Amino acid sequence: MNTNDPPRNPRPQILAAAIHGILNQASQHDDADSDLIDEYFRTETIGKKMVVQTCQPQWDGPYPAEMKWKKVASLPANSTPQEIKQAIRDVLMDNRYFRVCPECRERMPVGYMMEGYCQACGAKNHGVVF
Ligand SMILES: [Zn+2]
Repeated sequence: MNTNDPPRNPRPQILAAAIHGILNQASQHDDADSDLIDEYFRTETIGKKMVVQTCQPQWDGPYPAEMKWKKVASLPANSTPQEIKQAIRDVLMDNRYFRVCPECRERMPVGYMMEGYCQACGAKNHGVVF
């Protein structure tokens, strides 16, 4: 193997672990958000850019929903974990992508929100059948 090979791009799992580590250090953040980040975010390095993507369920087909990855931010590839975390938190706070259910207080992708409550609360508290 040629040791002059350029290093491969960092893999998304490694970056996710780095982001997770930073979030865990910040005690004011609740664990729910880091679970959301694990589940609904990924990063991809393309050339000199790091693209942050989030996935959203799409309901235009039959159940189960298809998860669609959507580009939500673009950062320089050498961004620090703090900068990546900030970009992700901006998306989490953006109500085009994530909303907090007023009944269970969980933040979740907009695709899981119905009118006034999330699907889980719809099933549990309002007898909505999926
Ligand atoms: Zn809810």
